[in-house]
This record gives sequence, structure tokens and C-alpha cells, in this order.
Amino acid sequence: MSKRLEGKTVLITGASSGIGRATAFEFARTAPNNLKLILTARRIDSLKQIVAEINDEVGNGVKVLPVQLDVSKPGEVRAFLGQLPAEFNEIDVLVNNAGLVKGVAKAPEITEEDMTVMFETNVTGLINMTQAILPIMLRRNNGEGAGDIINIGSIAGREPYVGGSIYCATKAAVRSFTESLRKELIAKRIRVISIDPGQVETEFSIVRFYGDKSKADAVYAGCEPLTPEDIAEAIVFAAGRRENVVIADTLIFPNHQA
Ligand code: NDP
Repeated sequence: MSKRLEGKTVLITGASSGIGRATAFEFARTAPNNLKLILTARRIDSLKQIVAEINDEVGNGVKVLPVQLDVSKPGEVRAFLGQLPAEFNEIDVLVNNAGLVKGVAKAPEITEEDMTVMFETNVTGLINMTQAILPIMLRRNNGEGAGDIINIGSIAGREPYVGGSIYCATKAAVRSFTESLRKELIAKRIRVISIDPGQVETEFSIVRFYGDKSKADAVYAGCEPLTPEDIAEAIVFAAGRRENVVIADTLIFPNHQA
């Protein structure tokens, strides 16, 4: 349990599965009294199911709001803030987690559609959310600000791989944006945090192979990927530190991953 997270309002993008879902549970378990969670993704039915599961597990000390939101649509992001119930307005922690990879292909074969969806989700979507939420954080403490922005990058943003040039480029862009933002906000009381996972077993691979589960499973053959909970623990740990402590930049991968 963490007293520091009590009373906070946490917004997680891509909360309908994988790391985002696990992060919602981890926040709820860590601060089961008086936490507010805003869970966003496109699949609203999955979000509603997660809300029911969290309520079953931790009771109603945690208020959980499911919101259908496509981060790649700037209009939706703007409208979403206006529609939030007043008690969820003061967002303290933004976890920019929504992201995907489409296909494994060398550069000349990557389709325009796949390239566009990866950039619009992983990069533009993350920036849309940050631009929408940051003003809320900046106006606290007479302009000194307060809050956490936690961006989920990837090992792929540091170590590009063959067949992943666009995905790797999107995650390198996330890394670069995050570092710039941290420098811009250094005089404020807003922490900007990068968490870069290695291989984690989630729906990520299924999305990568357009729903082909056998291809997705093959990615993990002969190795033991991390669980989404492993990443969720790191996210919540970073958010739960004393205000002056910034866990700025974390790379987390399974022991065997080269
Ligand atoms: P999942 O596929 O399980 O989760 C991805 C989440 O992103 C889903 O909740 C999905 O929800 C959401 N999402 C996708 N597109 C959009 C969109 N346009 N708007 C809003 N939400 C969207 O994968 P992971 O949990 O593994 O991925 C989470 C993050 O971790 C991603 O940023 C990924 O790049 C990163 N990562 C994952 C690794 C892995 O090995 N799994 C390794 C390194 C980084 P919905 O479809 O309902 O919108």
C-alpha cells in the first residue's frame, strides 16, 4: 500500500489489455483507498469488464471510470476532457501506454496504412494526450505545477531490429519527445518518466500479426517473456516515490533477452 498515491487521479491510455490493464490493477491494489482511475482505450466493453473486476477485488475505495478514447484522434482527445465528471478532472498521473506494432517487414514492404497507424497511435497519440493533460498539471501550485507523465517506450526505441524499422522509429520518437519534455519541465514539479519494456507477453504480438495467434505465440517460443504485471509494478513504483525523486529512465527486459 502507498499513502503517497492516495487521493490521486490516474489516467491510463490503452488500459483495455496487457500492460495498461495490469497497471490499472496495480494502482488499485497499491492505493485501495480514495484513488481515482480513468481507464481509456477504444474497446469500451473490455474497459467495463476491468472496472467490474477491480471493484470486485479492491472494493469501492477506488473509483474507476471507463472512457472510450482513440488517442490518435485529436478531436476525441479534446472532447474527452470536456466530458469528464468534475471529480475526475484533476489528473495527477498520466500513463501514456497506448501503442501497437503492425507487421514485420523490411522497409520497402511496409504499407502506408501500417506506417500511418503506428505513427498516429504511438507518437501523435502520445503527444495529443500530453498536450491535453499537461495544462492541468502546470496550473497547480501557482504555476510551479505538479504531476507525473509516464511514457511507455520500448527497448525497440534504443535497439532497432530488422523488420521493425517503423515501430522502432516510433519508439525512438517517443524517447526523444520524453527527454525533451523532461528538460522543458525541469524547473517544474512535474516528473517526466520513461519506462521502456523489452519482451512482454500481451496481445501486442497478436496485433503485430493481424490476429494470427500461432505467429504471435511463435515470438515467445523458447524464451520467457516478462508479464504485464512486471511492467505495471515499475510504473506504480515510479509514481509512488517522494515528489523529489524522479525514476527518470528505466529499461526492463527478461533476463535472457539479448
Ligand atoms: P496490448 O496490445 O495488450 O495493449 C495495447 C493497448 O493499446 C490496448 O489497450 C489497446 O486498446 C490500446 N490502443 C491501441 N491503439 C489505440 C488507440 N488508437 N487509441 C487508444 N488506445 C489504443 O499491448 P501491450 O500492453 O504490450 O502494449 C502497451 C505498450 O507497451 C505499447 O505502447 C507497446 O508499444 C509497449 N511495449 C510492449 C512490449 C511488448 O513486448 N508487449 C515491448 C515494449 C513496449 P484498444 O485496442 O481497446 O484501443
